[in-house]
Amino acid sequence: MPRAPETVVDLSRLNLHPGAGKRIELPIELAPFELGGQTYVADPSAPQMRLEASRHSSGFAFKLNFEIHIEGPCMRCLEHATHDLDVEAREVDARDTEDAELRSPYIDEDELDIGRWAHDAVMLALPTQVLCRPDCLGLCPFCGEPLNDADPADATCSATRPPRAPSSQRCASLKPALTKRRSTRFGTNYLRS
Ligand SMILES: [Zn+2]
Ligand SMILES: [Zn+2]
Repeated sequence: MPRAPETVVDLSRLNLHPGAGKRIELPIELAPFELGGQTYVADPSAPQMRLEASRHSSGFAFKLNFEIHIEGPCMRCLEHATHDLDVEAREVDARDTEDAELRSPYIDEDELDIGRWAHDAVMLALPTQVLCRPDCLGLCPFCGEPLNDADPADATCSATRPPRAPSSQRCASLKPALTKRRSTRFGTNYLRS
């Protein structure tokens, strides 16, 4: 897996006094996202991000906001899929505390690892399934052909049919009979096998 480019904000350079706040905009390079055994990338790879930083007496508070366009394979049929997200995340970091709960895992000394933070925020915001379309039919569980484009008139499936399917039934003609739930399960099973 490619290593994320170093994308760190030097907090000391923000020059924030207690009680003060600052808002900056900057492009942040994002590493590819691994989800459900597939790899997804952001386009552009370094989306413009808005970071609001405020300093209080005992530390920092941050708000991160950005829009991101993700591309990769559909989790059911492996065709091209995209997903747009509006990501928002917050972090607080208290200084001089022994309480790990109050420390941000993305801050080390005066450095905010905004690249890793943004990457984690996207992972949390992504749906569990990235699909080419919400009702993607996935792949034929018997021959592996995509069912979305299957034309019932000329589609044939020479692969083994399940015992319950009538022998005269052609692959694409299974389509209307499949409920959404069944097609999901078939698609998932195929991808795992
Ligand atoms: Zn699909
Ligand atoms: Zn088939």
